[in-house]
Amino acid sequence: MRALLLAVLLAALALPPRPAAAAERHGALIFSRTEAYRHTECIARGTSAIRRMGARNGFFVDATEDPAAFRRRKLARYDVVVFLCTTGDVLGPRAQRAFKRFIRAGGGYAGIHAASASESGWPWYRRLVGARFADHPGIPGVNAQFQRATMRVEDRGTAATRHLGATWTREEEWYNFRSDPRDAGAHVLLTVDESTYDPRGHSGSPGMGRDHPIAWCRRVAGGRSFYTALGHKGAYWQERRLRRHVFGGIRMAAGAAPFRCGRGPVGGMARDPGVRDRGVPRCAGARRGGSSSHEHLHRPHRAELPLRRVRRPAR
Ligand SMILES: [Zn+2]
Repeated sequence: MRALLLAVLLAALALPPRPAAAAERHGALIFSRTEAYRHTECIARGTSAIRRMGARNGFFVDATEDPAAFRRRKLARYDVVVFLCTTGDVLGPRAQRAFKRFIRAGGGYAGIHAASASESGWPWYRRLVGARFADHPGIPGVNAQFQRATMRVEDRGTAATRHLGATWTREEEWYNFRSDPRDAGAHVLLTVDESTYDPRGHSGSPGMGRDHPIAWCRRVAGGRSFYTALGHKGAYWQERRLRRHVFGGIRMAAGAAPFRCGRGPVGGMARDPGVRDRGVPRCAGARRGGSSSHEHLHRPHRAELPLRRVRRPAR
């Protein structure tokens, strides 16, 4: 008997080491379908950056532009769905139902940059994000679309912000929103200081004033939501601090990092109290046909990439 045990032990020791995939416990699905403006750089560079960080941090990462990936059984394999620079209406009714169930069952949502310009006809999604994209600077002859500005780091205790100092100065395409996500119960992580750049937006938004959230998180309808407005240019994804910010947010939304984002709106998303629309004029940019408008410049891009398997999950 002892010899047998020894033989079994030796056999076990002789086994090859467990493949790296076996240690991966979390899964992220990147969704980057666009039905309006397409951020080609954000999608390409963001996807590869998230994949690399996933491989180093115990995540398997899939990427798709196919809304058919939004089925209950398929989504159940993931901890978080990352809307990476999506624009326009990207989910049909069936996909919307599946995604809603996924969040209600405790799933995570991470929205990046133009994700706040998606699904404008779906109020549930707007509440999931916390605010809707209004516009951004880039008025011809008035201000530049991309400007350097300083952000204040409001909460340095999260995975998305721990690597940052009290302030963070960098170039970005700074989004204005139609409402303050704080009013929707969001826990704000970053705000941009409008005194450090010209926030006037291409569709007439004057900016957001003294409180201009840029990244936030919140509990929603049973799940977790993280949003950051950063990441327009491909070059921005070469910034280590940006990559760590984004991936920290993805880990938070996945439940892989602490999620101390307040209790969210009373009664969850069903009531969504306190959301105020700031009355940002709609569609001015569309009529002008400015190429900087995410929401209104309809350049359908229906290339449907197959679900790309990056790393096989252990489960
Ligand atoms: Zn952009």
